[in-house]
Amino acid sequence: MKKVLLLSLAALLFLPSCTKTQTQPEPSPDPVREGWTYAPPETGMYGGRARLIAGDQLTVEDGYLYFDGGVGDGYVVPMRMNLETGNVTALCTDPVCAHNTVECPLYGMRHFIPVRIGEKTQILALRFYPYPEQTLSGEEWTTVWDLVRYDPMSGEKTVLETYEGHMGFTPEVYLGTYRFYISQVYDEEDNWIGGLTRMDITTGKTELLFEGFYMPLLEKDGRVWVSDGVGIFSFEAQSPSPFLREEFSSPSAMLPDQTMCSTDGTNLYVTQNQSDTVRVFPLDGGEERVISVSFADSYARIIPAGGWLYYFSGENTVLGDARIRGYASDKVELHGEEFRRCRPNPSAPDGTEDELVFRFEGEWASFRPSHTVSDGRYLYCFYSWWEDPDGDGVYRDGDNRYSFPVNGHDNCSLLRIDCETGEAEIITIREGTK
Ligand SMILES: [Zn+2]
Repeated sequence: MKKVLLLSLAALLFLPSCTKTQTQPEPSPDPVREGWTYAPPETGMYGGRARLIAGDQLTVEDGYLYFDGGVGDGYVVPMRMNLETGNVTALCTDPVCAHNTVECPLYGMRHFIPVRIGEKTQILALRFYPYPEQTLSGEEWTTVWDLVRYDPMSGEKTVLETYEGHMGFTPEVYLGTYRFYISQVYDEEDNWIGGLTRMDITTGKTELLFEGFYMPLLEKDGRVWVSDGVGIFSFEAQSPSPFLREEFSSPSAMLPDQTMCSTDGTNLYVTQNQSDTVRVFPLDGGEERVISVSFADSYARIIPAGGWLYYFSGENTVLGDARIRGYASDKVELHGEEFRRCRPNPSAPDGTEDELVFRFEGEWASFRPSHTVSDGRYLYCFYSWWEDPDGDGVYRDGDNRYSFPVNGHDNCSLLRIDCETGEAEIITIREGTK
C-alpha cells in the first residue's frame, strides 16, 4: 500500500513539472486594474512575525496579497493580487488548468502560505485529498496528506512531510531556508511528544531542537523567539546546537493557546482573549508594560502597522431579527463596528492617542471582516455581510453572505480599507450567487 502511494505520488509530481522546468519567458508587466489606486506604505509589515499555515487566510508577501480564490468545494485555489496594480492571477501557472482535478499541481490544498526563501517566494501548502487508483483487485482509494513546497515561477513541487493523522498546526517562524515549528509526534497512547523542530524547507530535512511545547513567536536579528507558556526565550536560528536564553519570565502565566501574539519588530504584543489589555514586551530588553485597548467582543487582535496598533472596537450591534434554521440566536448580532488605531507608546499629553479609522455604518452597516491582513497602509479583509431584500429587518436563510469560499459559498471578493484616509472599497475577484 505504501509503495503504491509513493509510486503514484512520484508520477503525480513528475508529470506536471517536466513541461515547466524549462526557461520561463520574461513575465509581461501586470495590467493595472480599472480604477485602481494604490499608495505604498511608509513602513511595510514586519517580516519576522510568526505565521499560521492553517489559519492565515490572507497573507501579504513580496508586494502581493495571497488568498484562496476557490469556489467553496473544500479545496483551496491559491491566487494572488498585485497590490500595486490590483491584477489578480492564479498561482498554478498552467493557463488552461481549471484547478479542480489531480492534474493541477496545486490540487488538494487545504491551506497555504507564501514564504520568502532567499530571492524567491515559495508556497508551503497542506494537501489532503483522496483519489481512486486501479489495482489488480479493483479500485482502491488512496489519501494524499502532506506538506509541499511549490515554486510558483517554475512550477516545481517538493513533498516536505507526509502525515498519517493529527493535523494540528501552531504558529511558525521562517528564517533563511528554515521553518521553525512544533512537530506533530504522538506516542502509541496518542500523547503528543513533539517539540520545537527546525526544517530545511529546501530539502525537508528536520531536526528536533527542544523537547516540549515552545511556541514560535517571531524572528529578529537571527534569533527565534519562543514561549513555553510561562517564559519567553530566544535562540540562535542557524546554530548547529542552539540553546534557550531567557528574555522574559512572567508571574502571570502566559498560555500560548489562549493568547494572540503579533510584532512590529520593536515589541511583542500579546492580547488575552476577552481582556481589554495588550501586554507589550520590548524586544530590546526593556520592561514589560500593559496598555488598555477596548476590543470588540471576540475580536481581541492587534495588527501593528506603520507605528500604530490597529484593532476592532465598539459594542455589539444588533442588526435585526433572525429567522434562520439552526441559527443560535433570534437576533442578528455583529461585533463592534469600529476599526481604530492607537500608539504603542502614547505621546499625547493625556496619555491617549487613539483614533477611529473606519466605522461600519450606512451601506457598510452589515459588513464585518472575518480575516484581515495589512501591508502597512491598507487593511485587506475577507468579510461577511447580511442582505435584507424586502427591507423588513428580518433576516432569513441565505441572507448571510460570505466574501470567501466557505461552506459552499461561491463569492470571492476583498474589502480594502485605506488606514490613512478611511476610504473603503470592494475588490471583486468573482461574482457569486450564494
Ligand atoms: Zn491548476
